Amino acid sequence: MESHNLIKKRNFILLLIFWLLYFVHIVLYHFIAADPHLIVFISGGILLLIVTAMYYFRFHPTIIMYSFFICYYAYIAYMTSIEPAVINYLFLFLGIIVSFIYYSYIAIVISTLMSIVIVLYFYVSNTLFTSVTFVKLDIVYFILFTLITMIILLYCAHFSKKLIAITTIKMNKTEDELYSAQEYLQSFFTYNRDAIAVFSLDGKVIKVNDAFEQIYGWKAEEIVGKAIPFIPAGSKGGAESRLERVKKGEKLVAFETQDKRKDGKIIDVEITVSPIFNRDKQFVALFGISRDLTEEKETEKFLRQTDKLSLAGEMAAGIAHEIRNPLTSLNGFIQLIHEDSSRYHSYTTIMLSELNRINSIVGEFLLLAKPHDTVMKKQAFSTILNDVILLYESECILKNVVVKTQVEAPHTYICCDANQIKQVLINLLKNALEAMPSGGEIHLNVTQHTKDLTIFIKDTGVGIPSHLLTHIQKPFFTTKPSGTGLGLVVIKNILYQHKGTFEIKSTVGKGTSVTLTIPLWKEGTCQ
Ligand code: ADP
Ligand code: MG
Repeated sequence: MESHNLIKKRNFILLLIFWLLYFVHIVLYHFIAADPHLIVFISGGILLLIVTAMYYFRFHPTIIMYSFFICYYAYIAYMTSIEPAVINYLFLFLGIIVSFIYYSYIAIVISTLMSIVIVLYFYVSNTLFTSVTFVKLDIVYFILFTLITMIILLYCAHFSKKLIAITTIKMNKTEDELYSAQEYLQSFFTYNRDAIAVFSLDGKVIKVNDAFEQIYGWKAEEIVGKAIPFIPAGSKGGAESRLERVKKGEKLVAFETQDKRKDGKIIDVEITVSPIFNRDKQFVALFGISRDLTEEKETEKFLRQTDKLSLAGEMAAGIAHEIRNPLTSLNGFIQLIHEDSSRYHSYTTIMLSELNRINSIVGEFLLLAKPHDTVMKKQAFSTILNDVILLYESECILKNVVVKTQVEAPHTYICCDANQIKQVLINLLKNALEAMPSGGEIHLNVTQHTKDLTIFIKDTGVGIPSHLLTHIQKPFFTTKPSGTGLGLVVIKNILYQHKGTFEIKSTVGKGTSVTLTIPLWKEGTCQ
């Protein structure tokens, strides 16, 4: 295909050259010939027109190439026969030289042979070029000369072809390299998880990647060509001074700052800004890579809070333990006073109930802060569940609550601390009962899966407003006058130690459902 294009281009150049030569030839012929033949103009013109038409109608380039030589030599032969005075043997050489333009061995050989045939024919027919007197030896010289020219041209064509081939390969390779470099760059830009944006010097967006759209919230089509307000008002000064530094050629690597999203939310980001230079080393644009640190920061915050909490938990456990003993004596004495004297009855009643409250808070505190006392054993889950249901049976009847249990896995074992799992179930049942002051239903479903056990507890109680759902698992958050706000925290803590999960869903007025998962017992996990 490539060589066809090459031949096509040469054909075009030759057409131009031949048309030019034709006109020069006509002018000269007009002056040289005593009595110019009109047929000479016409025949030359017709032949050239034929080749031009072939080119115009997109004949195969190689056919046009051969047509050129045939037409040229036919014209020379014809001219020699009708007007030998104007034709010189050098014209024959011209054909051979012109054939070289194609680097085609066949074209060179054909034109050489045609030249020799024409020379021999006219020599024999004795009409050869009246402009020069040809003797026999001249013919020999001519043929020899023609053949040597052919050999040299063949060699040159061979050499040039080789050179062209090498250059083409090199060019293709460079093109490929350039293409793949560009592809790499494009995929790096498109598929990067960090936001990448290219800005012009006046701060207008030139290009952004998908991650930029996701992190910052602007779509490429709405911001390209515009300046976007992603720098928060308070950080403008700092951003400008950084930009000045970058403009001086400095790179800003992994700089932590805050940016503003399209929706106005401020996000923590780590940015890298670099200048882009053109070939003349002129600063033309800059590009920024920014990594969203929001999640990282949140995890950091969470970890800090967890640290604080565990420290607080440990301290609280110590204090709670110490409080328990004096509480027991206080409780005992107030009980005595309560029974003995009716004078302070109203006070001692309150004191006793408040003491009870302190006791339950302290109790739950201790549960929270005693993870190291856990005794993990292989336990049948149904036994634990039955114990808890039995414990709550009378209270449920009293509160007009029906418990509907459906256990699909009666012989399932889990590796757990039975008392802690009981505590989880107790806390959940307690919450459910407290949510149904005027009675209702508790549905308790237990299903076994390949790796864990799912416990689903649903009540038909008051439900939890959605804005409170995120708060209820925080320590001390309670909506009950006598609540501790520690029940769910204890549950989460225990499940965490048992590698289980906990999920709570609720609809106000309809009820609350809690889903727990606890991994099944596996050989070798515990006794
Ligand atoms: P407490 O029961 O002492 O308030 P919890 O940690 O057990 O503490 O529960 C926290 C809060 O979550 C409760 O005060 C209550 O508002 C809400 N809650 C928990 N379980 C339920 C439930 N089953 N139905 C309605 N609200 C619930
Ligand atoms: Mg509770």
